[in-house]
Amino acid sequence: MAALPVIELHPATSPARMAPNGKRFFIWTIGCQMNEADSAKVAAMLQEVGYRPTEVEDDADIVVLNSCVVRQAAEDKVAGKLNSLIRLKRQKPEVPVVLTGCMVTNQQEKLRERFPHVDLFFNPSDFDQLQQVVPELADLDDDLAQLPHYYVPEATDSGVTAFVPIIYGCNFLCSYCIVPYRRGKERSRTMAEIVREVEVLVSKGVREVTLLGQTVNAYGHDLDDRPGLHDLLAAVDTIPGLDRLRFLTSHPKYMSNDIVDSMAALPSVCEHMNLPVQAGDNEVLRRMRRTYTADLWRERIAYTRERMPGVTVATDIIVGFPGETDEQFQNTYDLLEEVGCDKVHVAMYSPRPGTLSARWDDDIPHEEKQRRHRAIEELQERVCSELNARRLGETLEVLVDSLAKGRWGGRSRGNTLVHFADDRPLMGKLIDVKITKTSPWYLIGEAVSEPR
Ligand code: SAM
Ligand code: SF4
Repeated sequence: MAALPVIELHPATSPARMAPNGKRFFIWTIGCQMNEADSAKVAAMLQEVGYRPTEVEDDADIVVLNSCVVRQAAEDKVAGKLNSLIRLKRQKPEVPVVLTGCMVTNQQEKLRERFPHVDLFFNPSDFDQLQQVVPELADLDDDLAQLPHYYVPEATDSGVTAFVPIIYGCNFLCSYCIVPYRRGKERSRTMAEIVREVEVLVSKGVREVTLLGQTVNAYGHDLDDRPGLHDLLAAVDTIPGLDRLRFLTSHPKYMSNDIVDSMAALPSVCEHMNLPVQAGDNEVLRRMRRTYTADLWRERIAYTRERMPGVTVATDIIVGFPGETDEQFQNTYDLLEEVGCDKVHVAMYSPRPGTLSARWDDDIPHEEKQRRHRAIEELQERVCSELNARRLGETLEVLVDSLAKGRWGGRSRGNTLVHFADDRPLMGKLIDVKITKTSPWYLIGEAVSEPR
């Protein structure tokens, strides 16, 4: 769950910010980085018209929930949170309750029946709709699209990293996935708008930017001059003061040599590839409608490693897809063991009403899904422990973004978590850390450079 975003805007892109109006907003976010970015934007808009954040929902003058329904467990959490607000709404009927994110469908009658205490349902990233409950936002109108997604989440967070959506929606129709039904077709933002937004973020102290999209590497095909992600990376890379550039989530089919080559060539682009494979068996991939084979994914990873030695790799896996046999699951397991990913997000299949696969028998028993889930986790523990052990004695550049139990924490360029102790004030700094101890999930080391 994301922390409450607090926004500051750059005066150059921001209309005159209204004086505080004494009102407070509470935002609750669950799900992917796109939701975090959307919540940050909502917070930015509300701050522009005088609202201030609160972490206490009972103190809020507006409550916004940003939902995820990618799996049933997430949907249940959102429903629980919504139901918990019935009391607040009874006590303070004037406080608008707003629901956005992937729970919001175009047919909203059912949602209205189920959650009558919600004042507004608005589709993901369709920010103009917020004006219905916050009329002051109409004054921002033409500037809304320009508001940067900049936020300083919490005291423990340095605020030096930020997400920037570059393409909304998804044109694929993977048979298990609800996202295209809730986020619509792909819409790329223009390069000029994205570059401007990153410039603003950097001017406010952001050092690492992650470009976002459900299919981030499909960027640009719907724009007039059809730029590719590699063109955008090259343009953003030139922004002075930006130390690190990342992007997620990529689709294997669109991971072109152009993109990989530009990753290898551009100094700010981090040596990290997020490329979900979902399954290692071609028949399962076919029924998932993923439009590629395991060999294509294997080959894309191999090319990336050839062009960028030391690159780290993250992927997503679904276990227990309808009809997935023991042998098919074993093919997924074998692929992961062969390729050796630094991070695997593994999920048990969850049927999503309205998707193609929800019409098929969800025939893998829950216990078997759990067994497969555990098997992948155990494999990963072994793989990551081996991969991380190779980093012993290496020196990694770390961007410090947390302090807990007397130890600084941050990410390497490869996105590995690194902890180290140091008496200096290092929040938001880049520093070289020599690795002295490894574990499957993080590295421990000691600083060997001056902070910068
Ligand atoms: N666009 C990305 C891609 O193509 O891989 C992923 C976006 S999806 C919202 C995030 C992850 O949720 C997926 O990679 C998948 O592993 C998981 N997921 C999506 N639908 C699911 C379902 N019905 N059951 C279980 N996991 C699911
Ligand atoms: Fe969902 Fe597939 Fe689109 Fe990813 S590519 S968001 S899994 S439909």
